[in-house]
Amino acid sequence: MRVLFGAGRLADLSAELDRLGVGRALILTTPHQKIQGDDIASMIGGRAAGVYSGATMHTPVHVTEQAMQQVALLRADGVVAVGGGSTIGLGKAIAFRTDLPQVVVPTSYAGSEMTPILGETVDGLKTTRSDPKILPETVIYDVDLTRSLSVPFAVTSGINAIAHAVEALYARDGNPVISLMAEEGIKLMAGALPRLVAGDDADARDDAVRGAWLCGACLGAVGMSLHHKLCHTLGGTFDLPHAETHTIVLPHALAYNAPAVPAAAARVARALGVNDAAQGLFDLAKGLGAKLALRDIGMPRDGIEKATDIAFKNAYWNPRVLERDAIRDLIARAWDGERPK
Ligand code: NAD
Repeated sequence: MRVLFGAGRLADLSAELDRLGVGRALILTTPHQKIQGDDIASMIGGRAAGVYSGATMHTPVHVTEQAMQQVALLRADGVVAVGGGSTIGLGKAIAFRTDLPQVVVPTSYAGSEMTPILGETVDGLKTTRSDPKILPETVIYDVDLTRSLSVPFAVTSGINAIAHAVEALYARDGNPVISLMAEEGIKLMAGALPRLVAGDDADARDDAVRGAWLCGACLGAVGMSLHHKLCHTLGGTFDLPHAETHTIVLPHALAYNAPAVPAAAARVARALGVNDAAQGLFDLAKGLGAKLALRDIGMPRDGIEKATDIAFKNAYWNPRVLERDAIRDLIARAWDGERPK
């Protein structure tokens, strides 16, 4: 994978498309970012075959099929995904089906651009697959494109990135280099977010994108555990917003796992500059004004039992054995917005 980083790097898009032999790129965005897509189409002129602005959360297959019709109609020979994880997911879904080259221009901190993983939804059921065709060929991190992020979304998207690094630090297939990247990613992002909340700060934006890159690379390199599985379950079952769900669950999931992985928890604490990693993550989210309770983002109370049941349905590796009462308690605390225990 080739990565370009820095303010203004979007100007290199035409050259990157030439490098990949793409002469007719389909530009992908959400409806919300359509104007950005149109601007980019104007910028690259004849290399743009068109803009498809129907990307949406959870990569529903019927949306991918619509976009595939545009690929065929416009005879596109590559895709440019401009946006957060939802838009990048659509680009990956097209690449998985066609093997067309992808240039990704991430505008949030979710990190999907760094992974060969695609999550797709059919009839509300999300399935995940990994394939080399899914990994984007080129990523352009243009820090300027993150200026339009709202502060609340920057905060939760940033903590979503931190979650990848936290779980990478105790991954079963972790390694010392990924752990270095994870610790640095947490440090950069946790340091940047309060400065982004305080005001428009170019250095903070730069740090946040570098942090997101590091955290995304961790997500792409090693396996995730309890935290990501819980968020996947909660998001899919109750249609909860991705980044906010991660922000609420992370301190609780880490509090559950920390006794089993004290060295990893100590590294998270060190990166945050606190004594207790789980409490530190809770305080970070609270201090940045993020929502702290799943009930405040649309999860019903009776969802606590349902989510607990689903969390036990598909077995997966976790550093601490899953104990039903403790997992139920974890979800209940997150639902209520209590401190992690
Ligand atoms: P998102 O892509 O759904 O973005 C949320 C909203 O913010 C959208 O309307 C988007 O257009 C807008 N937005 C994004 N960047 C913006 C900017 N700079 N300025 C203004 N508006 C902007 O949300 P997300 O949290 O980035 O991604 C979540 C999705 O990504 C989930 O479906 C998740 O499963 C997926 N994801 C997948 C992977 C993977 O490796 N496969 C990794 C992380 C996330």
